[in-house]
Amino acid sequence: MTTLEIDCPVCAEVLELTDEDRAELQVGDVIVCDSCNAEMEVTRNEGGEDFELELLGILTVCPSCGEEFDVTDDMLSEAPTVEGADGKAVSIVTCPHCRARIELEFEDEEGSRAG
Ligand SMILES: [Zn+2]
Ligand SMILES: [Zn+2]
Repeated sequence: MTTLEIDCPVCAEVLELTDEDRAELQVGDVIVCDSCNAEMEVTRNEGGEDFELELLGILTVCPSCGEEFDVTDDMLSEAPTVEGADGKAVSIVTCPHCRARIELEFEDEEGSRAG
């Protein structure tokens, strides 16, 4: 059994997909990262290494009102980014429910972890 490893485009967590997982996946299906809740749509699933995902959004729970909402690529590209004291980039998005400003921090790891 082969396992395909995919780096999450958001948090760089490695997602493992077995042959069985992939047999059940179809183009248009959505995978959710265990680590950061990013949603990725399967855009190609042809076997072997021939597998592609497109980032849809990141499911976030608003710390202010507790509602869930998706942070999409578009939202992120429009979101102002501030740099914390430790040099980490933080994006500010607005909760669509209560308009709270939420800081999203993405760990920008250089993936050096091997299996
Ligand atoms: Zn992730
Ligand atoms: Zn809210």
